[in-house]
Amino acid sequence: MVQETKLREGEVTVDMPPARDAGLVFIGRIRTPWKSRLETPRQGRHDGPVCRLEIFDPWVPAIKGVDFYENLEVIYWLHQSRRDLVLQSPKNNQKTRGTFSLRSPVRPNPIGTSIVKFVKIEGNVILVRGLDCLDETPLLDVKPDRCEFTPLAPPQAGDFETE
Ligand code: SAM
Repeated sequence: MVQETKLREGEVTVDMPPARDAGLVFIGRIRTPWKSRLETPRQGRHDGPVCRLEIFDPWVPAIKGVDFYENLEVIYWLHQSRRDLVLQSPKNNQKTRGTFSLRSPVRPNPIGTSIVKFVKIEGNVILVRGLDCLDETPLLDVKPDRCEFTPLAPPQAGDFETE
C-alpha cells in the first residue's frame, strides 16, 4: 500500500495524472531483512546481508547464465512510495532538490536499481548482496552489470557511430 508521508517544509507535490498501464510484469519478489523503511539502508552495500530474489513462474528458466557474472543489476518497484513530489527536502532543512536530481524512492515511477554481488542460485532463487529495499518488494528485472557484459549478438552499424 502506498504510504502518503508527511510533507516537509518547501516540498512540492503535483496532481498525479491517471496511471496508465505500462505493461510491467512483476517477475518475482525480493526477500530482505527489512520490514520498515526506517531501518532499510539508503543504498545497498556489497558486504550487506544476503537477500533473495524469488523468481516466479513462468520466468524461472530465465535465470540460466546469471551465475556467469560477479555483479548483477536488479530493478525493482518501490511499491510503498508516494509518487507526486517534484521538489523534495531529503535533509528536512527547508532546502529542496528536484526529484530527478535525487535517488529518492519518491518519484513518478518508483523504480529502484542496485548493482548487487551475485552469491548463488538455489532453484528459483538468486541470492545476492547489496540491496536496499523492503521485504516483499516487487521485482521487475535482473540483468548482468553493464560493465561486465559484452553483447553476445553480432555488432550492428550503430555500434561504430561516433559524435
Ligand atoms: N538503490 C535504489 C536506487 O538508487 O534506485 C533505491 C534507493 S532508495 C534511496 C532506498 C530507500 O527506499 C530505502 O532506504 C527505503 O527508505 C526506501 N524503500 C525501500 N524499499 C521500498 C519500497 N518497497 N517502497 C517504498 N520505499 C522503499
